[in-house]
Amino acid sequence: DDEIVLVGRSNVGKSTIMRELTGHSVPTGQKPGVTREPNHFDWSGQSFMFTDLPGFGFMSGVEGEHREAIQTDIVHYIENNAESILAAVLVVDGKSVIDIIDRHSDRGEIPHDVEMYHFLEELGVPTVVAVNKMDKVDDKDERLNDLCDRLGLFPPWQQWDEEVIAPITAKAGRIDSLRTALQGHIRDAKRDEL
Ligand code: GDP
Repeated sequence: DDEIVLVGRSNVGKSTIMRELTGHSVPTGQKPGVTREPNHFDWSGQSFMFTDLPGFGFMSGVEGEHREAIQTDIVHYIENNAESILAAVLVVDGKSVIDIIDRHSDRGEIPHDVEMYHFLEELGVPTVVAVNKMDKVDDKDERLNDLCDRLGLFPPWQQWDEEVIAPITAKAGRIDSLRTALQGHIRDAKRDEL
């Protein structure tokens, strides 16, 4: 089965996006770190499996050690299933992503989002960065250019529009750029199969 995985920190809007993409309501408010059951969905006339991987990074009420274990699980899951993973959606919160990345960098740590992006890239998994909660962002262009910079993508962000960088407001159902980007990756993958 072709699979699309959603990854991202807790609370960035993964469940909301899943619901918008698939039209199915998915259980939310689950305990952080609990692996969710993969969901099979028909989407765009094709059958896919959307897997919502547990949130990484900060999770309130989860001990550091357990957090590491979850991160390791996510990495293993993606490595073990890379063959069938058609695309990944790395979800970030547009409002806070730059601050979080810079805070980690300042401490000499590799920010989780940046690490995950490069990990997916190294595995050759086509990745869309869904920049969610854009309704809370005033300086859209600057924010998205900063994100490109942190991910090692040449600004301006418009160069990566509809392919890598997808600004969305999932809560209001505004996810067209994500749909377009995913459909593009699906088309590419199908063409490569022929
Ligand atoms: P998850 O933990 O990544 O699955 O995140 P959820 O989908 O549960 O969303 C976390 C919170 O962010 C919820 O309160 C959502 O209503 C809210 N949220 C999701 N998308 C958006 C958005 O586009 N804009 C805003 N302002 N809030 C959002």
